[in-house]
Amino acid sequence: MSSSGDESMASEIDEQEQNGGRGIPDYIMNLEDVPSTLPTHLELQKTRVFCNLDAPQHTDTIQYSGAYAALGVDNSVRLDNFYQNFKVEVKRITDEEMEFDMIGIDPAVANAFRRILIAEVPTMAIERVYIANNTSLVQDEVLSHRLGLIPIDADPKLFEYPDDAGGENNEKNTIVFKQHVRCEKGQPRLTVKSDTLKWLPNGSELIAEGTKSAADPAPKTFTTFNQKSLPKFSKDPAPYNLDVIVAKLGPGQEIELEAHAVKGIGKTHAKWSPVATAWYRMLPEVVLTKDVKDELAEELVSKCPAKVFDIEDIGRGRKKAVVKNARACTLCRECIREADEGEEGGEGEKWTDRVSLRRVKDHFIFTIESTGAIPPDVLFTEAVKILEDKCERVITELS
Ligand code: SF4
Repeated sequence: MSSSGDESMASEIDEQEQNGGRGIPDYIMNLEDVPSTLPTHLELQKTRVFCNLDAPQHTDTIQYSGAYAALGVDNSVRLDNFYQNFKVEVKRITDEEMEFDMIGIDPAVANAFRRILIAEVPTMAIERVYIANNTSLVQDEVLSHRLGLIPIDADPKLFEYPDDAGGENNEKNTIVFKQHVRCEKGQPRLTVKSDTLKWLPNGSELIAEGTKSAADPAPKTFTTFNQKSLPKFSKDPAPYNLDVIVAKLGPGQEIELEAHAVKGIGKTHAKWSPVATAWYRMLPEVVLTKDVKDELAEELVSKCPAKVFDIEDIGRGRKKAVVKNARACTLCRECIREADEGEEGGEGEKWTDRVSLRRVKDHFIFTIESTGAIPPDVLFTEAVKILEDKCERVITELS
């Protein structure tokens, strides 16, 4: 290399160092024998978790941009690559549950969505219960707790947090329900369900103690508002499930109460969590590294409880095992479990040599089970908005 070539290389290295050593200098990339992709075994280690019999291997994600610099491969995260590769594919959706694939994303981001879904998407839940009469066997505090856990079908976007109004109840932050049930004497035991919670659009009807004074003798209720005047409700607020059992009343027993629902998040209390659960798993990849034929094929199919394998006829009365439905793999590892060495029929590594169980590191099968208060697709878009707001806050703080 000429001295001017040396100088340009040196200046490029200097520039690279000033950039914190990130990226790979072009002069390396332009060398003829420098590969632009990783060798297969490293690519597999980078993109797959190997689920071995004893423990998973290569579970980490390689983030450092210069991790493969010695091989001439740039490992930096590029926004244009992300745009190109990121995909969301909805596989199954109902009013309460959604399964979708999130492809081309880092596990940390997938986990951020999971945590936001559980703890940060707001809902409405019963927070205060004013009990006028409770002669049932269920204690007041247990009854209140049970009521708090009933998902309320009301759009939280139409409401404000109680703290925004300084803790004062108004039509924008409180939904009032009334429950008055009695089991008459001589009647069989009565099951009290959530359908007995009736919305009070005009707010509380119970007289709050200590609100009378000489100056103002008129008794006051817990709230003074009229929600019917708000045109925004598409339907009346109500419990999402109408058959949640709240208590059982014997003859002569009675419950009379008012339940006030407010907006909150799961981080404060699990009753505000909009999901029963939100979880993900990496896409399973099951690879037959050798042909598995005839009796072995039959044995492999019978080993798998999730019906991942199938038999294919290869002619002349012979058959071989094929992977039919890798997505169904639960990673029970039965297919690679060997017969014990000491056991009759033990044959060393018969299966670990033939079956490779892996997980794709950037492909997540995400499941959202909503409590029903908010549809699962809306929940996910809300989680995206919350994460976006957080990112914007960080950028603002840093700039
Ligand atoms: S790990 Fe279990 S579920 Fe998965 S392919 Fe093997 S036997 Fe089937």
